[in-house]
Amino acid sequence: MTHSPDFDYLLIGGGLQNALIALAVFDRNPAARVCLVERGARVGGNHLWCFHGSDLSQAGEELVRPLVVQRWDGYSVRFPAFDRRLDSPYTAVTSDRIAEHVAQAFAARAGSELILGGTATRVGAVSATLGDGRVIDARVVIDARGPEAHERDNVIGYQKFLGLELELEAPCTLAEPVVMDATVPQYDGFRFVYTLPLSPTRVLVEDTYFSDGPELDVAVARARALEYARAFGLGPARIAREEVGVLPLPRVSTATGKASPLRAGYAGGWFHPTTGYSFPVATRLALHIATTTPETLFDPPFDALSREHARQQRFACLLNRLLFQAMPEQSRRNVLERFYKLPEPSIARFYALSTTGFDRARILCGRPPQGLSLSHALTKGLFQ
Ligand SMILES: Cc1cc2nc3c(=O)[nH]c(=O)nc-3n(C[C@H](O)[C@H](O)[C@H](O)COP(=O)(O)OP(=O)(O)OC[C@H]3O[C@@H](n4cnc5c(N)ncnc54)[C@H](O)[C@@H]3O)c2cc1C
Repeated sequence: MTHSPDFDYLLIGGGLQNALIALAVFDRNPAARVCLVERGARVGGNHLWCFHGSDLSQAGEELVRPLVVQRWDGYSVRFPAFDRRLDSPYTAVTSDRIAEHVAQAFAARAGSELILGGTATRVGAVSATLGDGRVIDARVVIDARGPEAHERDNVIGYQKFLGLELELEAPCTLAEPVVMDATVPQYDGFRFVYTLPLSPTRVLVEDTYFSDGPELDVAVARARALEYARAFGLGPARIAREEVGVLPLPRVSTATGKASPLRAGYAGGWFHPTTGYSFPVATRLALHIATTTPETLFDPPFDALSREHARQQRFACLLNRLLFQAMPEQSRRNVLERFYKLPEPSIARFYALSTTGFDRARILCGRPPQGLSLSHALTKGLFQ
């Protein structure tokens, strides 16, 4: 007698990637039996995620529309020598919204199961074992256990954040995000502050670092974020929510291929190697999974998707090596300053991980950023 698997899809890790996969699969194939295992008390963790206007395809926009909490028409960046407003929409999604939608989607489907508070201790090609001994099998297993499952020996640096969602006593006048204020004092590599006006009285202020090491002194970063908020005219305020993150950034391309289980999300290299952002590629992968079956998942369209992703990743990893190996810590800001002088479409395609050959040449050619030491970089293997 042949055994029939418990589920069609077994999703390990209930973060952004698997939340998008579950929603995409339910949307395209309402009869699919999906099991999602998340060790936390809810799906989606504690985040506020954003993406740029051209990061998503039309189908991607439709998939994430119910998750959107805020959308702005443009954003700005600030450097010591210039400010710039970019006329490109910027959109925010919250963990609360994702948790709510995913829970509702599972509750509405009798053959599917959302397991919260369950830790996978062994993840195989067609089954996983949970901490309580339960073994679950499926036609396909997708392993998206997040940044902590990223390859440890392929890290060139870290992006570190401490974000404070502030409830202001008086309304502020900031109407659009400042996604990079690099005029702030520089510590621990390249530092900038990211400010999102969520409402006139609610603002996210995130102290961010591109550093060589993973250490983040949360108390110091919190004090710096509060100091910035006060100087920016955002005080007095109460801290309503805090988020912390340390994202390893890869030295070389990490995109995974046709292996079962499919490693997805941050763990599988389906993210932007330079910015750490997941939305563009996590959405592409989710839509691919939803438009194939477990048996056709690795058919030629997957090759095309992963080949293009690997090509984009290789370029972004070259930039990582330039940023972390060819630039002394105190000069890293110059790389970003030069980048933000590029034409808007090239900037947008860089964020979307859809750069053209012309964009790549444009990013690399021209007057090098001040502080670049090519001989230093070559001895460290820049072009590996
Ligand atoms: C503070 C912060 C802000 C960010 N902002 C943005 C942004 O604005 N835009 C953007 O695109 N990206 C952003 N990122 C980067 C990145 O895209 C996210 O980290 C994204 O959540 C990665 O998705 P994921 O599903 O791969 O991993 P995660 O969302 O981290 O999910 C992994 C999940 O797996 C679970 N898990 C781990 N081990 C097990 C196990 N053994 N069993 C069961 N469950 C397990 C974890 O609890 C977690 O919920 C941000 C990251 C951080 C930290």
